[in-house]
Amino acid sequence: MSQYWSPLVHDLEPYVPGEQPKMADLVKLNTNENPFGPSPKVLEAIRSELNDSLRLYPDPEGESLRRTIADYHGVSPEQVFLGNGSDEVLAHIFQALFQHGEPVLFPDISYSFYPVYCGLYRIEARPVPVTESFEIDPEDYRQANGGIIFPNPNAPTGRFLALDKVEAILRANPDRVVVVDEAYVDFGGDSAIPLVDRYPNLLVCQTLSKARSLAGLRVGFAIAQAELIEALNRVKNSFNSYPLDRLALAGAKAAFEDEAWFRRCREAVIHERERVTSALEGLGFEVLPSKANFVFARHPGRSGSELARGLRGQGIIVRHFDKPRIRDFLRITIGTTEQNDALIRGLQTL
Ligand SMILES: *Cc1c(COP(=O)(O)O)cnc(C)c1O
Repeated sequence: MSQYWSPLVHDLEPYVPGEQPKMADLVKLNTNENPFGPSPKVLEAIRSELNDSLRLYPDPEGESLRRTIADYHGVSPEQVFLGNGSDEVLAHIFQALFQHGEPVLFPDISYSFYPVYCGLYRIEARPVPVTESFEIDPEDYRQANGGIIFPNPNAPTGRFLALDKVEAILRANPDRVVVVDEAYVDFGGDSAIPLVDRYPNLLVCQTLSKARSLAGLRVGFAIAQAELIEALNRVKNSFNSYPLDRLALAGAKAAFEDEAWFRRCREAVIHERERVTSALEGLGFEVLPSKANFVFARHPGRSGSELARGLRGQGIIVRHFDKPRIRDFLRITIGTTEQNDALIRGLQTL
C-alpha cells in the first residue's frame, strides 16, 4: 500500500500464474506447457533473426505472420490480430469489446484470468456455474450481459463444448461478443474458426504456448470478422505498437510452417493423455473427459491438497486450486512418457 498508487491499484487482485520453480530435475506438470519442445525450424528461424536488424523496430502490424496464420486458417489477414501471448489479446478484448455497462459472463470454473481483467477494466464479472458434471450449459447464457467468454476445451476441466452448443450461445446473444478461448483446441477439440464468417459476434482466441510448444516466445492471436479485429487494433495501437518482437514474429511463422512437427507432438500428447487417464482410473481416480493437454482428476478417498503435497515431496509438481467446487481435484499436465510414468509411480506410493 502506498499513497502514490492510483486508487484502482489498491483494489486489484492480480492473477497468480503456476509456479516456475528454479530447481532442475523436477517433474513439472503444473502449467500445461508442451513437454516436446518447439520445432527445430522455429529455432533456426529465430537464430537467423539474431543479427544487426535487432536495432530496428519490428513490423508493428506483423504482416507476414498474420498472412501465414490467415492462410493456415482460411481467413483473410484483416481477420487476424496478434498479441504478446493470448493473455495480452484477452486483455485487449476485455477493454475493446466488453465495456457495455453490463456484467461479463464466464463459467465459474474456468480460466482465472477473466475475473482479473474485469477488475483491471472495472467491468462487472458474473461467473455462471457449470453443471454438476462440470459442463457449460448454453441455456445459462441467456441473460443480459456485456459479453461472454469461455475456454473451449475448458480449463481446468478439460471438457469440450460441441460446436452446435457454441452456436446456441452465439445465436442467443447476437448483440454481444462471444469469445471462445481456444488455448487447448489442438488436442482434440474442433475450432470455432469456421463459424466466424457466419457470426459477426464471434471472436476466437488461440495461442502458440500450448500445442506449438512456444510458451516462452509469447505469441497469441485472435480471429474474427474485420470489424471486431479493428477494435482490438485501436486498443493495441493506443497501448503498445510493437507487441511482438522480431524473434517472436520469425519463430511463430516457422511454427506454422512445420505442420509435421506440430502433428507429431500433438498426437504424442493425446496418446499419453489417454494412457494417463486409464492409469489414474486404475488407481481409483475420477477423471473428467479431457480434450486438452492436461487432465482434471479427483480421488474419492484423498483430498487434492494432500495429494499435491505428497507428489511435491517426490519432486512432482501438479496444479491444485484451493477453490470451492474443485478443491478435491488435481490438474495434471500431460508430460513425456517418462514424466507420466513418474507421476503414476508417485501416486501409487501415496
Ligand atoms: C494458457 C492459457 C492462455 C494463455 O496463453 P498465453 O498465450 O501463453 O498467454 C489463455 N487462456 C487459457 C484458457 C489458457 O489456459
